[in-house]
Amino acid sequence: MTQTPPSGSFRRIPGIFEEAKPPLSNLEAIVEAERCLRCGGPYAPAPCLRACPASVNVPGFVGAIALGDPAQAASIIFEENLLGGTCARVCPTEVLCEGACVLHHEGRRPVEIGRLQRYATDFAFDLGLRTRAVAPPRGVPIAVIGAGPAGLAAAGELVTRGYTVTVFESRAEPGGLARFAIAPYRQQLEPLPQEALMLNQMGVHFRFGNPIDTPQKLHDLEAKYAAVVLAVGLGKDVEVTYPGDELEGVWDSLPFIEAIKTGKTPKVGSEVTVIGGGNTAMDVAREALRLGANTVNVLYRRTEAEMPAFPHEVEEARAEGVHFEWLTLPIRFLGKHRLEALECQHVRLGEPDESGRRRPQPVSGTEFLVPTKTVIKAIGQRPRIEFLRWVEGLEIRDGKIGIDPQTAQTTNPHYFAAGDATGGATVVEAVRGAKLAAEGVDRYLKGGRL
Ligand SMILES: Cc1cc2nc3c(=O)[nH]c(=O)nc-3n(C[C@H](O)[C@H](O)[C@H](O)COP(=O)(O)OP(=O)(O)OC[C@H]3O[C@@H](n4cnc5c(N)ncnc54)[C@H](O)[C@@H]3O)c2cc1C
Ligand code: SF4
Repeated sequence: MTQTPPSGSFRRIPGIFEEAKPPLSNLEAIVEAERCLRCGGPYAPAPCLRACPASVNVPGFVGAIALGDPAQAASIIFEENLLGGTCARVCPTEVLCEGACVLHHEGRRPVEIGRLQRYATDFAFDLGLRTRAVAPPRGVPIAVIGAGPAGLAAAGELVTRGYTVTVFESRAEPGGLARFAIAPYRQQLEPLPQEALMLNQMGVHFRFGNPIDTPQKLHDLEAKYAAVVLAVGLGKDVEVTYPGDELEGVWDSLPFIEAIKTGKTPKVGSEVTVIGGGNTAMDVAREALRLGANTVNVLYRRTEAEMPAFPHEVEEARAEGVHFEWLTLPIRFLGKHRLEALECQHVRLGEPDESGRRRPQPVSGTEFLVPTKTVIKAIGQRPRIEFLRWVEGLEIRDGKIGIDPQTAQTTNPHYFAAGDATGGATVVEAVRGAKLAAEGVDRYLKGGRL
């Protein structure tokens, strides 16, 4: 049940801010771009392009890099994805464009599309290039709530169509989870400030430190703006408590990562336990190793086959030395002031539950102790139900905003929505949703049929 890496093996654990995919040099970028076969044509797009939720013309921009024209490459990327710089660092390319690359069929490694995209977008930011044409303003105001990936992309897409866009954000800076939750070895801060600056230069107005936190504020926006885009993401960690929850060393995943990303790095001690089986659990496990833990155990109540994390994320965590305890439930946290140990119990899988997954059933007599100085609970995020209920007539399905899949319009016609609040789970899905929402707003305000 427990899986452990071979003993005595030496592994180098990178630093917490050491980039998993460092930038390419000019020469490396050109050599890598020349590996591309420029697949596809007008009637059969390349598989990498088809696999990109933002529809970036991958062979087009990779070809421009091969020809020594990174500015042109950046312009091709930004045409479809205004957050092309962030996506270059954080997209799960293994299951998107790079996963679809035809070179796999020849037993060769795929073109490193993510790193090439970063090369081109960094080039544009370094030179401050203007990369997207903006239509003349037509004096129609739109409000966007949230300056995470969905809100940033929606605002940019709307100003290119000539709308006057104001983004209201609770935090003091842009980026949402990309700034405060995505693993620091993927993205720390850059290029979010440059992306926000580019949007600002395109005409987007930002109101940071401006939460829409009362029904009255929301209704004021509704009255003042021709349409409102809800890009509020999800809320805090799901609340799952155990006896001993108040002990020092017990963390929820989002405050734990935010502490790292804002320079208040937690002291994790030698043994760390992570509860959960999703991508966030893999991230915090790998972050704990980078913070100096000797042993990191991930507890998951089902088996590896049921884990929601991407298989490549599980493999990478395992290769770095993360241990897994499948079919295991935490029972309580033990210690005086600081956490010392975790009591757990094994489970077996019973009949499927409403989600179709087999329900874990505790097996009595299998209780055991795991010595641990830090526990991080990575179970998932709560929806922002209280806020969403302020929007009259808004349909909420399983905690997500219900939208028309063609136009991103909600059941209140004045409101559109994108990103995690609608069920997305990645930055590039937020970008895709934002493009849809901008198109939907445009058609709605021009009186077109939705
Ligand atoms: C730990 C973790 C790791 C992740 N790693 C990756 C990864 O490697 N790659 C990837 O592609 N995706 C990753 N994701 C997912 C990705 O971060 C999200 O899909 C993406 O950020 C969603 O964007 P969003 O704009 O919908 O929401 P968010 O990023 O949550 O942004 C919402 C914004 O709205 C603001 N807001 C909310 N309510 C209000 C209000 N009432 N008034 C004003 N402002 C408000 C918030 O402050 C926030 O800035 C990760 C997520 C987590 C939790
Ligand atoms: S599938 Fe691979 S080889 Fe073909 S165009 Fe895309 S990146 Fe190039």
